[in-house]
Amino acid sequence: MLKLNSVYTSYRNIEALKGISLEVGQGEIVAIIGSNGAGKSTMLNTISGILHPGQGTIVFLGKRVDNLAAHVIVDMGISQAPEGRRIFPQLTVIENLEMGAYARTVRSQKSEVRKELEKIFQYFPILKERLKQPGGTLSGGEQQMLAIARALMAQPKLLLLDEPSLGLAPIMVEKIFEIIKRINQEGMTILLVEQNANAALRLANKAYVLETGRVVMQGDAGALLKNPQLKAAYLGDG
Ligand code: ATP
Repeated sequence: MLKLNSVYTSYRNIEALKGISLEVGQGEIVAIIGSNGAGKSTMLNTISGILHPGQGTIVFLGKRVDNLAAHVIVDMGISQAPEGRRIFPQLTVIENLEMGAYARTVRSQKSEVRKELEKIFQYFPILKERLKQPGGTLSGGEQQMLAIARALMAQPKLLLLDEPSLGLAPIMVEKIFEIIKRINQEGMTILLVEQNANAALRLANKAYVLETGRVVMQGDAGALLKNPQLKAAYLGDG
């Protein structure tokens, strides 16, 4: 579904991605793990067209997307729930969700948007109870749910999640990861960026480990969980 081939992305003179190659297959959950500054967010922003690579190619469903504008990429079927739960704090929950569908409302029926909302409320029933509440007053976990729900409103084929566990209590991390699993089981392909390597590897089919802009390890997520080198560096034991 998605293929990055030797992608380089820089911020002025800082080279944040130094030749990243990776593949995401239809129906998979692929995890990208790595510590602060490894280039994980840069990678997602390069896929979603917020940044453009200086070198390399990104192919989505057989088409080059690395030079396309972000809104065109959303329209093609890639939607990102950004790091830090960047919802619109002054807008209510329902307004945030409607913003997620904005790219589609121009060409789709309101009834279809309503149908999508109902589907999303099955994943996140708490959001249905908070429709009129300003997004900024939701708890951290609820804001994370809203960010994921908003991304789903664009009806993507590929969902990009940037550190959904960030700043959440373990019980909430468990809950969010359960929902991500369910979204995947119902057919969504997911590329998941995480510092919480343990949780991410338990959920994913395969994973890539990023260090200072390079892929240093990759493979089956179950095998990586048992890898002594990875355990020592990212799983806090070994
Ligand atoms: P974290 O988990 O801490 O969010 P990350 O793996 O997502 O880290 P990035 O945010 O992609 O890492 O950062 C990769 C590198 O690019 C870092 O050295 C960072 O300082 C640099 N960087 C990120 N954004 C910018 C920017 N807007 N301008 C300049 N340098 C940047």
